[in-house]
Amino acid sequence: KSLQQERMLMMQQKDLMLKEKSSSMMFSTLLFGVCIGLVLLLLTAWLQRNQFRRQAQRDGLTGIYNRQTGLDLAEDELVQVLANKSHFSVMILDLDFFKSINDRFGHATGDWTIKKVAHVIQDIIRPTDIFCRMGGEEFVLYLPNTDEQTASVLAESIRSEIESINTKYSGHNFSISISIGISSLDEGDLSLDPLLSRADIALYESKRQGRNKVLIYQPAFA
Ligand code: GH3
Ligand code: MG
Ligand code: MG
Repeated sequence: KSLQQERMLMMQQKDLMLKEKSSSMMFSTLLFGVCIGLVLLLLTAWLQRNQFRRQAQRDGLTGIYNRQTGLDLAEDELVQVLANKSHFSVMILDLDFFKSINDRFGHATGDWTIKKVAHVIQDIIRPTDIFCRMGGEEFVLYLPNTDEQTASVLAESIRSEIESINTKYSGHNFSISISIGISSLDEGDLSLDPLLSRADIALYESKRQGRNKVLIYQPAFA
């Protein structure tokens, strides 16, 4: 009888051990699941944060930097340039007679043109150049460590690439051209403002002289 009791006890013990083992397995699986869930949650939050940040920094139509991000990045670069006594150039680019593209072929073709131009410029510039859409059909290129002449060569290649854009993929046949104003860092320039206003004056002058033109700022334009 006592042997049978002992056997029963052993079986109960074994049963208890098995139950203990299975509940500890369940706990580990649960813990693992919670950890995976947490990691996935953190990853999603991180990806979403990056996406929101990207959306806040970029222009919705072209995907290039928006005006404010361009200014912020360029200001940081300018501080470095001033400290190193290096060069800095600014280019303002504005599509010619863009309103007539909208008027003749519709807003969608206007949008196609803006996107195409942005991509063409993006493909030409260097990784250190800061390219942004100021609004409408106007773009700005900030060129750290770049003198007037180098900026002018780059501007000329942009102008010529844009002139040779094939518009057949927009479903229409028309020509695109861009006018460009350039200014470079002068002694006494401590912010982007004077550079931007001189580049704008040069741009206005290139429009005045017939468009599809690159002009470096000269005091005589003012
Ligand atoms: P100019 O040669 O003197 O620069 O003349 P322009 O016609 O290019 O310039 P204007 O400022 O007269 O016209 C710009 C037009 O751009 C007016 C506006 O309706 C249009 N526009 C602004 N933003 C957008 C946009 O995101 N998409 C489209 N399709 N058109 C836009
Ligand atoms: Mg224009
Ligand atoms: Mg404009």
